[in-house]
Amino acid sequence: MQLLEIGKPLRLVSRDIVRPAPGQLVLRVAACGVCRTDLHIVDGDLPALDHPIVPGHEVVGHVAEIGASAATDAFSIGQRVGVPWLGWTCGRCRYCRSGRENLCDNARFTGYHLDGGYADYVLADGRYCFPLPDGYSDAEAAPLLCAGLIGYRTLTMAGDAQRLGIYGFGAAAHIVAQIARFQGRQVYAFVRPGDDKAKAFARTMGAAWAGDSNEAPPELLDAALLFAPVGALVPAALRAVSKGGTVVCGGIHMSAIPSFPYELLWGERRIVSVANLTRRDGEELLALAPRVPIRTSVEIFALEQANEALRALREGRLNGAAVLRLQET
Ligand SMILES: [Zn+2]
Ligand SMILES: [Zn+2]
Repeated sequence: MQLLEIGKPLRLVSRDIVRPAPGQLVLRVAACGVCRTDLHIVDGDLPALDHPIVPGHEVVGHVAEIGASAATDAFSIGQRVGVPWLGWTCGRCRYCRSGRENLCDNARFTGYHLDGGYADYVLADGRYCFPLPDGYSDAEAAPLLCAGLIGYRTLTMAGDAQRLGIYGFGAAAHIVAQIARFQGRQVYAFVRPGDDKAKAFARTMGAAWAGDSNEAPPELLDAALLFAPVGALVPAALRAVSKGGTVVCGGIHMSAIPSFPYELLWGERRIVSVANLTRRDGEELLALAPRVPIRTSVEIFALEQANEALRALREGRLNGAAVLRLQET
């Protein structure tokens, strides 16, 4: 399913399967999650590229062909692996050399610069593929690869905050809430005003309180994580955190943040963003997932229904994560 023009539906096309260069793997895709970033790419919220894009960066696949090299020694034909958003980094820029490959100046991202998992086959650099834990079906494992990874990195940015607010209770939030509960934190969920279904969903995921995003929580929070791409939530979240509290913006795109009085930031409150992921985030989250154990809530679509899945996400009609499933498992 390929994006040819910003704002237009994805189109089903037929393409030849590319052979792997040394260090690359060809994967037969089993499932691919649908992420809000895909929506931002399709809608043109991210810079447009000069080539067609196959979206999808929560890819679960089985190794079909190996481009032999030291980087692919550890993989075997048929093995199940996951491909995340971070698809390639240069290893040379100052960010790569200081352990911050998520900020690499030359990074290439899966489903954006590199063809992604809305397809039967995907070509991936073996250095950025993760073996996946057992105990998850292909569809259940898919949301771990971005909602899980970026969610985990976002949670890490909140430090040891005990009272944790989460704005926007979708795919990332439902995973983060489970990790936060496992770590002994209290979760306060903020949803679109009036969305009682989302509130109920948040409570089933362990939220101690669930309310509208324009409501004040029953007590001040130590940190707030923003997964909804709504800039107006930044001052709202600043109001909800106590002195020294952190507001972490977890999305790749957000509408403009309205101006707000300095007193909301005063008291050493902080606003930070989270960009992408490192491979270390992936290793940590995938080791943690079965220990929690994280359970992912998924709605299944066929590959050909990718446009419907994106529409459901845009309209806020999903509980948990949309996943395209490519073959019976
Ligand atoms: Zn770099
Ligand atoms: Zn994503």
